[in-house]
Amino acid sequence: MIVETEQQKWRFVAAVTGASVVASVAVTAVVAPLGLTTVALIPSIVAPLIVAPVASHWAAHLLLRIHRLNTHLAHLMRHDQMTGLLNRGAFFEYFEEQDQPVAGAVLMADIDEFKRINDTYGHAVGDRVICTVAETMRSEVEAHGILARYGGEEFVAFLPQLSLTQAQQLAEQIRVAVEDHIFLHDGKNLRFTLSIGVEQLDRAGTLDEILICADRALYEAKRSGRNCVVRYSA
Ligand code: GH3
Ligand code: MG
Ligand code: MG
Repeated sequence: MIVETEQQKWRFVAAVTGASVVASVAVTAVVAPLGLTTVALIPSIVAPLIVAPVASHWAAHLLLRIHRLNTHLAHLMRHDQMTGLLNRGAFFEYFEEQDQPVAGAVLMADIDEFKRINDTYGHAVGDRVICTVAETMRSEVEAHGILARYGGEEFVAFLPQLSLTQAQQLAEQIRVAVEDHIFLHDGKNLRFTLSIGVEQLDRAGTLDEILICADRALYEAKRSGRNCVVRYSA
Protein backbone atom coordinates (compact mmCIF):
# COMPACT_ATOMS: atom_id res chain seq x y z
CA MET A 1 0.00 0.00 0.00
CA ILE A 2 1.37 3.41 -1.01
CA VAL A 3 1.66 6.08 1.70
CA GLU A 4 2.54 9.37 0.00
CA THR A 5 -0.08 11.77 1.39
CA GLU A 6 -1.81 12.47 4.74
CA GLN A 7 -5.00 10.99 3.28
CA GLN A 8 -3.20 7.77 2.29
CA LYS A 9 -1.68 7.62 5.77
CA TRP A 10 -5.13 7.54 7.39
CA ARG A 11 -6.37 5.06 4.80
CA PHE A 12 -3.42 2.82 5.69
CA VAL A 13 -4.29 3.05 9.42
CA ALA A 14 -7.93 2.20 8.72
CA ALA A 15 -7.01 -0.72 6.43
CA VAL A 16 -4.49 -2.23 8.87
CA THR A 17 -6.90 -1.83 11.81
CA GLY A 18 -9.75 -3.42 9.87
CA ALA A 19 -7.56 -6.30 8.71
CA SER A 20 -6.24 -6.82 12.27
CA VAL A 21 -9.74 -7.08 13.71
CA VAL A 22 -10.80 -9.57 11.02
CA ALA A 23 -7.64 -11.64 11.51
CA SER A 24 -8.01 -11.57 15.29
CA VAL A 25 -11.65 -12.72 15.16
CA ALA A 26 -10.75 -15.46 12.66
CA VAL A 27 -7.92 -16.75 14.84
CA THR A 28 -10.15 -16.62 17.94
CA ALA A 29 -12.84 -18.63 16.12
CA VAL A 30 -10.29 -21.35 15.39
CA VAL A 31 -8.35 -21.49 18.65
CA ALA A 32 -10.96 -20.58 21.34
CA PRO A 33 -12.06 -23.81 23.03
CA LEU A 34 -15.75 -22.75 23.04
CA GLY A 35 -15.70 -20.94 19.67
CA LEU A 36 -16.86 -17.33 19.21
CA THR A 37 -18.63 -16.73 22.47
CA THR A 38 -19.14 -13.16 23.67
CA VAL A 39 -16.39 -13.61 26.23
CA ALA A 40 -13.94 -14.60 23.49
CA LEU A 41 -15.25 -12.15 20.90
CA ILE A 42 -14.94 -8.92 22.92
CA PRO A 43 -11.15 -9.13 23.59
CA SER A 44 -10.53 -10.42 20.06
CA ILE A 45 -12.07 -7.16 18.73
CA VAL A 46 -10.98 -4.70 21.41
CA ALA A 47 -7.30 -5.75 21.53
CA PRO A 48 -6.55 -5.10 17.82
CA LEU A 49 -8.71 -1.94 17.96
CA ILE A 50 -6.30 -0.56 20.56
CA VAL A 51 -2.98 -1.88 19.25
CA ALA A 52 -3.41 -1.72 15.44
CA PRO A 53 -4.15 2.04 15.07
CA VAL A 54 -1.17 2.99 17.24
CA ALA A 55 1.26 0.63 15.49
CA SER A 56 -0.02 1.31 11.97
CA HIS A 57 -0.03 5.07 12.53
CA TRP A 58 3.61 4.90 13.59
CA ALA A 59 4.47 2.77 10.50
CA ALA A 60 2.47 5.05 8.16
CA HIS A 61 4.15 8.11 9.65
CA LEU A 62 7.57 6.58 8.90
CA LEU A 63 6.54 5.60 5.34
CA LEU A 64 5.27 9.14 4.68
CA ARG A 65 8.47 10.63 6.08
CA ILE A 66 10.61 8.35 3.89
CA HIS A 67 8.56 9.36 0.84
CA ARG A 68 9.00 13.08 1.62
CA LEU A 69 12.75 12.66 2.18
CA ASN A 70 13.06 10.76 -1.11
CA THR A 71 11.18 13.52 -2.95
CA HIS A 72 13.43 16.13 -1.37
CA LEU A 73 16.54 14.11 -2.24
CA ALA A 74 15.40 13.70 -5.86
CA HIS A 75 14.86 17.49 -6.03
CA LEU A 76 18.32 18.16 -4.56
CA MET A 77 19.94 15.80 -7.09
CA ARG A 78 18.36 17.58 -10.06
CA HIS A 79 18.59 21.22 -8.99
CA ASP A 80 21.30 23.75 -8.41
CA GLN A 81 21.16 24.80 -4.75
CA MET A 82 22.04 28.44 -5.31
CA THR A 83 19.73 29.39 -8.17
CA GLY A 84 17.08 26.68 -7.91
CA LEU A 85 17.49 25.99 -11.64
CA LEU A 86 18.02 22.51 -13.04
CA ASN A 87 21.64 21.44 -12.75
CA ARG A 88 23.84 20.32 -15.63
CA GLY A 89 23.16 16.60 -14.99
CA ALA A 90 19.39 17.13 -15.02
CA PHE A 91 19.68 19.03 -18.31
CA PHE A 92 21.31 16.00 -19.96
CA GLU A 93 18.85 13.63 -18.25
CA TYR A 94 15.96 15.52 -19.84
CA PHE A 95 17.19 14.38 -23.27
CA GLU A 96 17.82 10.80 -22.11
CA GLU A 97 14.24 10.61 -20.81
CA GLN A 98 12.67 11.51 -24.17
CA ASP A 99 11.21 8.58 -26.13
CA GLN A 100 12.01 10.15 -29.48
CA PRO A 101 14.74 12.50 -30.67
CA VAL A 102 13.73 16.09 -29.95
CA ALA A 103 14.12 19.19 -32.04
CA GLY A 104 14.45 22.80 -30.96
CA ALA A 105 16.97 25.50 -30.22
CA VAL A 106 19.82 25.53 -27.73
CA LEU A 107 20.89 28.71 -26.07
CA MET A 108 24.15 29.10 -24.13
CA ALA A 109 24.63 32.21 -22.00
CA ASP A 110 27.56 33.50 -19.94
CA ILE A 111 27.76 36.58 -17.70
CA ASP A 112 30.30 39.06 -19.07
CA GLU A 113 33.43 39.84 -17.10
CA PHE A 114 32.03 38.16 -14.07
CA LYS A 115 35.42 37.69 -12.48
CA ARG A 116 35.63 41.49 -12.25
CA ILE A 117 32.29 41.58 -10.37
CA ASN A 118 33.68 39.04 -7.88
CA ASP A 119 36.99 40.85 -7.56
CA THR A 120 35.37 44.27 -7.12
CA TYR A 121 32.38 43.53 -4.91
CA GLY A 122 33.16 40.13 -3.40
CA HIS A 123 31.99 36.59 -3.92
CA ALA A 124 28.69 37.06 -2.06
CA VAL A 125 27.65 39.84 -4.44
CA GLY A 126 28.79 37.63 -7.34
CA ASP A 127 26.47 34.90 -6.04
CA ARG A 128 23.55 37.35 -5.93
CA VAL A 129 24.32 38.47 -9.49
CA ILE A 130 24.22 34.82 -10.66
CA CYS A 131 20.84 34.38 -8.91
CA THR A 132 19.48 37.59 -10.46
CA VAL A 133 20.50 36.51 -13.96
CA ALA A 134 19.05 33.03 -13.31
CA GLU A 135 15.72 34.57 -12.27
CA THR A 136 15.62 36.89 -15.29
CA MET A 137 16.38 34.01 -17.64
CA ARG A 138 13.85 31.75 -15.94
CA SER A 139 11.03 34.24 -16.43
CA GLU A 140 11.86 34.57 -20.14
CA VAL A 141 12.47 30.88 -20.83
CA GLU A 142 9.85 29.09 -18.71
CA ALA A 143 7.05 29.40 -21.28
CA HIS A 144 9.25 27.95 -24.01
CA GLY A 145 11.47 25.25 -22.55
CA ILE A 146 13.95 24.24 -19.88
CA LEU A 147 16.80 26.18 -18.33
CA ALA A 148 19.80 24.89 -16.38
CA ARG A 149 22.84 26.30 -14.64
CA TYR A 150 25.55 24.81 -16.83
CA GLY A 151 28.55 25.91 -14.77
CA GLY A 152 29.68 28.82 -12.57
CA GLU A 153 28.16 31.81 -14.43
CA GLU A 154 26.97 29.90 -17.47
CA PHE A 155 23.44 28.85 -18.32
CA VAL A 156 21.98 26.60 -20.98
CA ALA A 157 18.41 26.51 -22.28
CA PHE A 158 16.63 24.09 -24.56
CA LEU A 159 13.65 25.51 -26.40
CA PRO A 160 11.68 22.73 -28.10
CA GLN A 161 9.68 23.78 -31.14
CA LEU A 162 11.39 27.17 -31.42
CA SER A 163 13.09 27.92 -34.71
CA LEU A 164 16.58 29.35 -34.73
CA THR A 165 15.18 32.80 -35.54
CA GLN A 166 12.60 32.65 -32.72
CA ALA A 167 15.31 31.48 -30.31
CA GLN A 168 17.55 34.31 -31.41
CA GLN A 169 14.71 36.78 -30.69
CA LEU A 170 14.17 35.26 -27.24
CA ALA A 171 17.92 35.42 -26.55
CA GLU A 172 17.90 39.09 -27.52
CA GLN A 173 14.96 39.67 -25.13
CA ILE A 174 16.95 37.99 -22.33
CA ARG A 175 20.07 39.98 -23.15
CA VAL A 176 18.13 43.28 -22.99
CA ALA A 177 16.34 42.26 -19.77
CA VAL A 178 19.70 41.57 -18.08
CA GLU A 179 21.27 44.74 -19.49
CA ASP A 180 18.32 46.84 -18.23
CA HIS A 181 18.24 45.27 -14.80
CA ILE A 182 19.50 47.57 -12.05
CA PHE A 183 21.21 45.69 -9.25
CA LEU A 184 21.36 47.55 -5.95
CA HIS A 185 24.48 47.12 -3.85
CA ASP A 186 25.65 49.40 -1.04
CA GLY A 187 23.50 52.27 -2.33
CA LYS A 188 24.99 51.93 -5.81
CA ASN A 189 23.24 50.84 -8.98
CA LEU A 190 25.25 48.06 -10.60
CA ARG A 191 24.69 46.74 -14.08
CA PHE A 192 26.03 43.71 -15.85
CA THR A 193 25.60 42.03 -19.21
CA LEU A 194 25.24 38.64 -20.82
CA SER A 195 26.65 37.08 -24.00
CA ILE A 196 24.56 34.40 -25.67
CA GLY A 197 25.22 31.78 -28.34
CA VAL A 198 22.33 30.13 -30.17
CA GLU A 199 22.16 26.96 -32.25
CA GLN A 200 19.47 24.60 -33.46
CA LEU A 201 19.09 20.97 -32.44
CA ASP A 202 17.48 18.90 -35.16
CA ARG A 203 17.15 15.18 -35.56
CA ALA A 204 20.44 14.96 -37.47
CA GLY A 205 22.81 16.36 -34.84
CA THR A 206 23.59 14.95 -31.38
CA LEU A 207 23.13 17.10 -28.30
CA ASP A 208 26.90 17.14 -27.68
CA GLU A 209 27.55 18.46 -31.20
CA ILE A 210 24.92 21.17 -30.80
CA LEU A 211 26.31 22.24 -27.42
CA ILE A 212 29.77 22.57 -28.99
CA CYS A 213 28.26 24.76 -31.73
CA ALA A 214 26.31 26.91 -29.22
CA ASP A 215 29.51 27.26 -27.20
CA ARG A 216 31.39 28.38 -30.33
CA ALA A 217 28.67 30.96 -31.01
CA LEU A 218 29.03 32.13 -27.40
CA TYR A 219 32.79 32.39 -27.86
CA GLU A 220 32.13 34.45 -30.98
CA ALA A 221 29.82 36.74 -28.97
CA LYS A 222 32.64 37.29 -26.46
CA ARG A 223 35.09 37.98 -29.29
CA SER A 224 32.69 40.48 -30.83
CA GLY A 225 32.80 42.64 -27.70
CA ARG A 226 30.30 40.83 -25.38
CA ASN A 227 26.70 41.85 -24.50
CA CYS A 228 25.39 40.38 -27.75
CA VAL A 229 23.65 37.35 -29.24
CA VAL A 230 25.39 35.26 -31.89
CA ARG A 231 23.79 32.53 -33.94
CA TYR A 232 26.05 29.64 -34.90
CA SER A 233 27.12 29.47 -38.51
CA ALA A 234 29.30 26.60 -39.75
P1 GH3 B 1 33.99 36.51 -19.81
O1 GH3 B 1 33.33 37.80 -20.11
O2 GH3 B 1 35.00 36.14 -20.85
O3 GH3 B 1 33.02 35.40 -19.56
O4 GH3 B 1 34.84 36.71 -18.48
P2 GH3 B 1 34.49 36.20 -17.03
O5 GH3 B 1 35.29 37.00 -16.07
O6 GH3 B 1 33.02 36.18 -16.85
O7 GH3 B 1 34.96 34.69 -17.12
P3 GH3 B 1 35.98 33.87 -16.28
O8 GH3 B 1 35.82 32.46 -16.75
O9 GH3 B 1 37.35 34.47 -16.35
O10 GH3 B 1 35.49 34.01 -14.79
C1 GH3 B 1 34.38 33.36 -14.29
C2 GH3 B 1 34.45 33.48 -12.79
O11 GH3 B 1 33.25 32.98 -12.19
C3 GH3 B 1 35.57 32.69 -12.17
C4 GH3 B 1 34.96 31.99 -10.98
O12 GH3 B 1 35.68 32.23 -9.80
C5 GH3 B 1 33.60 32.64 -10.87
N1 GH3 B 1 32.57 31.75 -10.33
C6 GH3 B 1 32.25 30.50 -10.74
N2 GH3 B 1 31.22 30.02 -10.03
C7 GH3 B 1 30.88 30.98 -9.13
C8 GH3 B 1 29.89 31.07 -8.10
O13 GH3 B 1 29.08 30.17 -7.86
N3 GH3 B 1 29.83 32.23 -7.40
C9 GH3 B 1 30.70 33.27 -7.63
N4 GH3 B 1 30.55 34.37 -6.90
N5 GH3 B 1 31.66 33.19 -8.57
C10 GH3 B 1 31.74 32.07 -9.32
MG1 MG C 1 32.23 31.37 -18.14
MG1 MG D 1 31.74 35.01 -18.00
